[in-house]
Amino acid sequence: MSVNSRIPGFYKLTPPERFKTIVERSGLSEGDLAGLAATDGKMLAIADRMAENVVGTLPIPLGVAANFTINGRDYLIPMATEEPSVVAAASNMASVARIHGGFHTSSDQPIMISQIQVVGAKDPQAARLRLYERRQDLLDLANEQDPLLVKLGGGAKDIEVRIVEAASKTYVVLHLIVDVRDAMGANAVNTMAEALAPLVEQITGARVRLRILSNKADRRLARVRATYDCQALGGPDVVDGIIDAYAFAAADPYRAATHNKGIMNGIIAVVLATGNDTRAVEAGAHCHAAAGGRYTSLSHYEKDDAGNLVGTLEVPMAVGLVGGATKTHPVAQAAVKLLGVQGAQELAEVIVAVGLAQNTGALRALSAEGIQKGHMSLHARNIAVAAGADGDEIEKVVSRLKDGGHVRLDKAQAVLAELRQSGG
Ligand code: NAD
Repeated sequence: MSVNSRIPGFYKLTPPERFKTIVERSGLSEGDLAGLAATDGKMLAIADRMAENVVGTLPIPLGVAANFTINGRDYLIPMATEEPSVVAAASNMASVARIHGGFHTSSDQPIMISQIQVVGAKDPQAARLRLYERRQDLLDLANEQDPLLVKLGGGAKDIEVRIVEAASKTYVVLHLIVDVRDAMGANAVNTMAEALAPLVEQITGARVRLRILSNKADRRLARVRATYDCQALGGPDVVDGIIDAYAFAAADPYRAATHNKGIMNGIIAVVLATGNDTRAVEAGAHCHAAAGGRYTSLSHYEKDDAGNLVGTLEVPMAVGLVGGATKTHPVAQAAVKLLGVQGAQELAEVIVAVGLAQNTGALRALSAEGIQKGHMSLHARNIAVAAGADGDEIEKVVSRLKDGGHVRLDKAQAVLAELRQSGG
């Protein structure tokens, strides 16, 4: 049936009223759409304040990765992901990395860039220099917008002015360089950029259009290295296999996209669990992967003198502990408490450590037994549930699927039907 999606005032309704409205509009039953309706009233009230037109919430599995030692300190790391094997692989590789001291990290100061696009400057080169001449006025005006951030040691620190030659126009682009301390910083730097616009127009004699942060957070890199014991990984051939897999990703963007996706499996799970902006981190990471002009692997692998595998990873990491959902979402608040991190830089470093562990885990599986063995046995549980298995039936279906070697929905349905017919 066709649906009329024009619902005046939809946003003004309460979540239960919105749910009722979409049931009516969709022509489906409440039962059909029950999965969209909220079951937790308290969480629903919070969600309704976080986003728009909310009808429910989406629970995602929240696992805790074990075995992580980072800079000599142990962490229990919350990871939110719907994908099987992710938390297991990270925990597993963390236990291998532990043998040689765990993960060692470092990170840049939390510097974000806000862009101000100037359109139609008659003298772009001279306009660029006039902006530099007014550097202090621009910084002072930016810092007036966020006295708290300045008090905490952050704030606008510098400017950089670029000329961007676009298809048919030349833009003068002012970068405001801001230390955002323990914030992700998007709102903070956007506010500053908007406040600067009239002064930038006055200085350049041209019009300002965009005033927004750049998600290319390449002054805010987090780095990690770890040594993985050769024997614990499965021996020299597995180490060589991982290095071959890495070299493949370094040379081929088709492989690099999947390689980096594996890194993001770990990174995004912690970013999400801590209420941070997953899209901002994804955008920054993939942009960084192409920083050399060609998309490539974000991580590197090499061998030490003893034949152990040494993995390294460097990624922009715009995450915070204040602002956004980190302060409003109860799961994020508990996740940050569990991590026990003292600042945004420490959180960024924990996150890249998980990214590296995840990447190594995927490459190890690919180079040794193949990814499907571990992945599929966990995936089999999802398939069994999708086929309708319940309670004891789930493990029975999983075991038969694995014995049969085909982890597919049609097989699971057939196995379940057989089980039920035989009363077992
Ligand atoms: P925010 O504005 O809620 O919090 C930052 C503010 O908190 C600072 O300006 C400061 O005044 C204050 N603060 C208090 N204690 C602080 C401390 N210890 N360190 C730093 N600041 C402290 O949030 P934000 O971090 O500026 O913005 C994050 C939000 O912006 C996220 O929800 C993100 O999704 C969203 N966002 C992202 C984009 C993008 O990535 N393109 C664009 C717009 C908005």
